Amino acid sequence: MILHLNEIEARFRRYAVRLTRQRAAIYTALAATTSHPSADELYRMVKRRQPMISRNTVYYTLGVLRNAGLVREVNVGHDMARYDGNVSLHHHLICLGCGSIVDVMDDELNRLQLSSAQAKGFDVLRHRVEFYGYCVSCQQARLDGSPHHGQAPSFIEGGKHGKQLKGHKES
Ligand code: ZN
Ligand code: MN
Repeated sequence: MILHLNEIEARFRRYAVRLTRQRAAIYTALAATTSHPSADELYRMVKRRQPMISRNTVYYTLGVLRNAGLVREVNVGHDMARYDGNVSLHHHLICLGCGSIVDVMDDELNRLQLSSAQAKGFDVLRHRVEFYGYCVSCQQARLDGSPHHGQAPSFIEGGKHGKQLKGHKES
């Protein structure tokens, strides 16, 4: 979604985040994509328009925006956070092969609720459902028998072949 400056100003105000040019550029780039980029990927995206921006600024800003609730972190593994500019209620399909993350909009999932016994006293504020599997191109790569495709990358803990892949890299 391409955002107008008015809308960006309104959102930063609503979440009480001080707006700067660079923050606006970072937030706009993230809000414009559904690819759930990592901080590094987002840095490369923003750098195309703002060549002077530093990697540190992008990392720091993502932390500020995340803490304010303006963006959300999507965890697919332990060593590489992925970011989502869409903070409305939605869910994700996560590929164990290539790490792609695809949005799932589903009213039935949105309505999921725990019984009070299951909630164990929690005041539940929100939920997000994650479906793990293999995307179409990773399924195809597995069928083609390519040894390096369609296997869980090492950053996914408990991935099917994560350990094997890691060993491979080291040798
Ligand atoms: Zn995939
Ligand atoms: Mn998403």
